[in-house]
Amino acid sequence: MKDPISQKLKSIPVSIFSVMTNLANKHNAINLSQGFPDFPMPDFIKEAAYKAIKDDKNQYAPSIGIPELRKELSKKYKTFYNLDYDPNKEITVLTGATEAITSVLLGMHDPGDEIIIFEPYYDAYMAVCQFNGIIPKTIPLDYPNFTINKSKLEEAFSSKTKSILINTPNNPTTRVFNKEELRLIGDLAVDHDVFIITDEVYEHITFNGNQHIPIASFSDIRDRVITISSFAKTFSATGWKIGYALASEEVSKSIRLSHQFITFCSATPLQYAYAEALKTDRSFYINLQNEYKKRRDILSKGLVDVGFETFPTEGTYYIVADITPFGFNDDIKFCEFLIKDIGVAAIPMSEFYSKQYKRKNLVRFCFCKKIKNLEMANQRLQKLKEYES
Ligand code: PMP
Ligand code: GLN
Repeated sequence: MKDPISQKLKSIPVSIFSVMTNLANKHNAINLSQGFPDFPMPDFIKEAAYKAIKDDKNQYAPSIGIPELRKELSKKYKTFYNLDYDPNKEITVLTGATEAITSVLLGMHDPGDEIIIFEPYYDAYMAVCQFNGIIPKTIPLDYPNFTINKSKLEEAFSSKTKSILINTPNNPTTRVFNKEELRLIGDLAVDHDVFIITDEVYEHITFNGNQHIPIASFSDIRDRVITISSFAKTFSATGWKIGYALASEEVSKSIRLSHQFITFCSATPLQYAYAEALKTDRSFYINLQNEYKKRRDILSKGLVDVGFETFPTEGTYYIVADITPFGFNDDIKFCEFLIKDIGVAAIPMSEFYSKQYKRKNLVRFCFCKKIKNLEMANQRLQKLKEYES
């Protein structure tokens, strides 16, 4: 038999999120690895989905998304960020941020085009590059603050660079890139005439006065920016997989071309439900942040108490922790031990680095979980004190 795996996929690993969740389930560990809430999504959004299904909104949606959702998204970007996006020409509904990343990267790049990506990165970026022969030019964020290094970024550009891909608030580092960092990216994008693709799925989860700034809000670069986001984190429904991309009319055309033959359209009744969800008022978003702040503080206290060195969480629902105090120098081995011997699952961050810049001392815990489960995780983690060196 011929090898069923294409050469392109050969070096793509099995998703670390699947690996860790499966191992956590097998050993009954509290799963603080894959980032999904273990509490229910808001009832009013579920009701809107039930209604759409009962009202027979069950056939193909328009490929670019239902008009009601695109209109509400346009209003949202105006209200939150004072950004104007034409719902017909500049907003495309996609099947989660994952499909958005795929449709944008495939729609805009040819094999051999270079794209600048910061390390540590969200794993899907590298895999999608691989699908299409796009060349990722990765550069590390400075350690330990995960800030953007100006000279490394300047050096990463070449005549083949087509775009730069950023993620803020950032998974896994939790950084919320500040105005100066975003301005630097914008200036270099203009100098080198490249696009900026920005993944902002955690836009509504920020802490300690760190404000999410969409890079599209710098008016001089607005038409170079492709903003990707998703409802998964904001409305606690990672299984619904509805996302979107905002871009100029010309760029949207390219995204729509690839999207129509990747999924064609996204789940129709869920689009109706999110159009309703977007009508909710500001208090929803304030409450979301307050709830996550409580959870962050509980987990952070638990981690510090048992001897982890933690990094401040600026945004997202993750905490990065250094495993060195426990005598481990391999994050994957540590995560396996943590699941099997301690009963808690985390993500080894070496999976988010290339060979060249790999670090093996960091793990990522998520706190998008019921408070009682975070407290139980803290209790289990107490056993780690026996291993502290
Ligand atoms: N980008 C980042 C940075 C993520 O953490 C995730 C995971 N939610 C995604 C994209 C994928 O989002 P979705 O579930 O909407 O496909
Ligand atoms: N975004 C989620 C995380 O970072 C996982 C997404 C996935 O499972 N592919 O944990």
